[in-house]
Amino acid sequence: MLKPNTRYNDLKDTYLFNTIYRKTNEYLKANPGKKVLGMGVGDVSLPLCKAVIQALHSAVDDQANATTFHGYMPESGDPALRKAIARYYKSIGAKVSENEVFVSSGACDDLGDILELFETDNTVLVIEPAYPEYVDTNVLAGRKIIHLAAGEENNFLPEPCEEARADILYICSPNNPTGAAFNRNELQAWVDFANEIGAVILFDAAYELFIEDKTIPHSIYELEGADTCAIEICSLSKTAGFTGTRLGYMVVPQDLIRGGMNLNEMWSRNRETRTNGVSYILQKGALAVFTPDGQKQIHDNLRVYKENASYFMEALDAAGIWYCGGENSPYIWMKCPGGMSGWEFFDYLLNEIQVVGIPGDGFGSCGKGYFRFSTFGNPEETKEAANRLCKLLKKE
Ligand code: PLP
Repeated sequence: MLKPNTRYNDLKDTYLFNTIYRKTNEYLKANPGKKVLGMGVGDVSLPLCKAVIQALHSAVDDQANATTFHGYMPESGDPALRKAIARYYKSIGAKVSENEVFVSSGACDDLGDILELFETDNTVLVIEPAYPEYVDTNVLAGRKIIHLAAGEENNFLPEPCEEARADILYICSPNNPTGAAFNRNELQAWVDFANEIGAVILFDAAYELFIEDKTIPHSIYELEGADTCAIEICSLSKTAGFTGTRLGYMVVPQDLIRGGMNLNEMWSRNRETRTNGVSYILQKGALAVFTPDGQKQIHDNLRVYKENASYFMEALDAAGIWYCGGENSPYIWMKCPGGMSGWEFFDYLLNEIQVVGIPGDGFGSCGKGYFRFSTFGNPEETKEAANRLCKLLKKE
C-alpha cells in the first residue's frame, strides 16, 4: 500500500496571504471607488533592464538557427555564466571559483534541493522571523527544527548561543521579513560558531545588492573560514527583476567537507541526476546582468526601490516608531503602534488609509506585533501610501 508523506498535514496553510486577499476584497466590495495601495508583496514592479532584454531577444534568435542553436545545457550552468558570477564575487572581495558556482532556476528551488545533501536526522536552526521556506522544507523532510527567536533587543540579529546548536543553520542577511543585516563582526561570529560545532550554514543572500552600509558583507565568503562551513544561495529575482524570468545561483565551496564527504562534489553529482540545466535563453539574459551595462542598469532600478524605502522611513521617523530594514533592504519591519497586533494594524490601515502590508505573525510567532512593508511597488503609489501613513500616525 502506498504511503503518502503525511508530514504535508503538518505544514501551516496559506492562511496569511489568503486572509489578506479576502479582507482586501471585502473592503473593496463594501467601499467601491476607494483606491487600495498594495505595499505588502515582495515582488518587483519594474521591468527587466535593457541589457537583459536585448540578450534574451538575441538568445531567442540563436535558437532559430542550426549554427547557433543550443540543446541541453550543462547541468551546473553555462561555463560563461559560472565564470561571470565568480568574477562578480572577486569584485566584492570574495574568493569563489567558477567550479563552486551552480546556476539554477531560482533561490526557492535551491533552498529545497540543497537539503538532499543532508540526512533527515540532522537538526536545523531557523532564526525567526524567517522566510517560510526554511521551515516548510524541513517539516516535509521530518527534520527537527530549533526556532531561535530574534527581537528588538538584538535588532533582530541574534548572536550564536548554546540553544543555536544545530547541524544546519539558516542565516538570511539582509533578512526577509525584517530587513536587518549582520555586519562583518556579527556574521564572523556565526561562521566561527559553525566551524567550531561542525555545522553547515545555508546563507541566503537574495537581497545582497540592497546593502549600502560598508560594514555589512554582501557575501559570507568575504569572511575568514566561511569556505569550510557555508553554502550561499543567491538570486537575480530581486536584484535584477527576474522574479518571473527565473534564475538563481548557489555557491558550494570545494573546501566544504563533512563526514569525509566533499559537498561540492556531491552537489555536482546531484545536479547531474536532478536537472538537465537551466534554459540557454535565460542564462544568456543572466549573463547580461554581469556586464558593465547590465550592472549599471540594475543599479538604476534598485535606486527606485531605495527611494521607495526612504518614503516609508521618513514617515516612521517622523512618527517616532521603531523599525528596522529599509536602509540595506527592500523591506521595512515596523512595530505596530499603540500595542496593536499585526492583524489589528492591518485592519486599521486598510480601513483608515487603504494601505495593505503584511502582519508579522506570518513569519513566525516572534513576528507578532510587527508589520512588514515591501518597497518593490510603483513609486507614485508608494509615495502616496507613505504620505497617508505619515498623516495617520501623526494623529495617533
Ligand atoms: N530567499 C528569500 C529570503 C526570499 O525572500 C525569496 C523570495 O522572496 C527567495 C529566497 C526566493 O527567491 P527566488 O525568486 O529566486 O526563488
